[in-house]
Amino acid sequence: MALIVQKFGGTSVGSVERIEQVAEKIKKFRDGGDDIVVVVSAMSGETNRLIDLAKQISDQPVARELDVMVSTGEQVTIALLAMALIKRGVPAVSFTGNQVRILTDSAHTKARILQIDSQRIQRELKAGRVVVVAGFQGVDGKGNITTLGRGGSDTTGVALAAALKADECQIYTDVDGVYTTDPRVVAKARRLDKITFEEMLEMASLGSKVLQIRAVEFAGKYSVPLRVLHSFQEGPGTLITLDEEESMEQPIISGIAFNRDEAKLTIRGVPDTPGVAFKILGPISAANVEVDMIVQNVAHDNTTDFTFTVHRNDYNSALQILQTIANEMGAREVIGDTDIAKVSIVGVGMRSHAGVASRMFEALAKENINIQMISTSEIKVSVVIEEKYLELAVRALHTAFELDAPAAKTAE
Ligand code: ASP
Ligand code: MG
Repeated sequence: MALIVQKFGGTSVGSVERIEQVAEKIKKFRDGGDDIVVVVSAMSGETNRLIDLAKQISDQPVARELDVMVSTGEQVTIALLAMALIKRGVPAVSFTGNQVRILTDSAHTKARILQIDSQRIQRELKAGRVVVVAGFQGVDGKGNITTLGRGGSDTTGVALAAALKADECQIYTDVDGVYTTDPRVVAKARRLDKITFEEMLEMASLGSKVLQIRAVEFAGKYSVPLRVLHSFQEGPGTLITLDEEESMEQPIISGIAFNRDEAKLTIRGVPDTPGVAFKILGPISAANVEVDMIVQNVAHDNTTDFTFTVHRNDYNSALQILQTIANEMGAREVIGDTDIAKVSIVGVGMRSHAGVASRMFEALAKENINIQMISTSEIKVSVVIEEKYLELAVRALHTAFELDAPAAKTAE
C-alpha cells in the first residue's frame, strides 16, 4: 500500500463535471488500496477573477487582504471535491492550509513554506479518509492567511509529499507529461519518460510552464519522486528523478527551452577600468531589475562594450537607468533591442560529452541564424538570437540533437 499525493490543477477542476471526473479517478486509486492526499487548485480562471476584483478597488491592493481573498478559490474546490468523493461512498475530508497548519513566512502573495504539521492528515488517513487539501495557501506565525505565488499549488503538493514521506507526488494537469520542447512549435516534440530535477529546474526557469519552479526546487531538495500526468488520459507521464543513469539510448540533450520575454541592452564605449560592471549593474539591481545574461567585450582603445538582458517588462526602466549611467560615465551610446529570444539546450549528458555547444552553433549556422550572445553552465547552453528566427532555431536544434519523434509515431 502506497501513500500518494495527487495534485489537480485549475483546468482539471475547472467545472463541476470535471470535479466529478477527478473524484472517479481518485476512487479508483483508493479501491486499489492506496492512501491518497489530494491537493487542488482553484477552478481555472478563478484566481484571475478574484485578482481583477481587487484591482477594481485599488491598483495595488494590500497584500494581506489580497491573500485573504484569493485563498477562497481553493477553498471552494476542496469542498466540492470532498462532496463528490463522499457522494461516491469514498470517505473524505477537506482542509484549508490553515487547518493543516501549512506554516509559511509572512511574505504575502509569495510566501515560503516553513513547516507542515502532518499529524492531522496522518490521523485522517488512518481513519480511512481521503484528505483534500487546499493548494497555494498557508498561514504565518501570527495566523495571517498567506499564498505561495502563482502556480503555488504545485509547491503545496510537493511540500505535503515531503512532510508525509509519500511514495510519489503526482501532478495532474492538461498535458500528458514534460516534452522535449513545446509541441506547438515542434510537431515532432516527444514526451520524456524521465528527466532529472536539475534538468527540469533549468527547463522551468527557461520558460517551460509545466511546473512551478519552486515546486521543482523543493522536490529536488527533499528527493520527492515527482510525476507529471494528464488528468483525463491514461499514460505513464514523466517522472522527475534524482538519478542520472547513463544508457546508450540516453540522448545528450533532454530538452530545448526558449523564451521571448527578454530584452537586450548595450552600453557602448565605457572606460575599461575596475568597478565598471558594478557601476552599470549596481543601479539596475537596486531598482529590483533582474539581469539574466551578461557579456563584456574585450577592450580596445581603453574602452569596452557591455551588454546584458532583462525581462521585457523591465526594459523601459532599465533603459532609463542605463541612459543616466551612460551620461555620468561619458559612455558613447546606449542601444536597446526587444526583438530577441533566448533558446537553450538542456541536458545532464553535457557533463560527459564534449562538443555539445559547437554542435548547437553548427545547427544554427546551417540555418543562417546569427548568435548575439552565448552563455553556458554545466548542463545548459543558451543563445540569444533575433526573435523572428526563434521557431526555426528550435526546430533545427530539435533535429540536430536527435530529439524528433520517429516518423511512425507522429503519423499515429
Ligand atoms: N490558483 C492559483 C493560481 O492560479 C494557484 C495554482 O493554481 O497553483 O495561480
Ligand atoms: Mg498550475
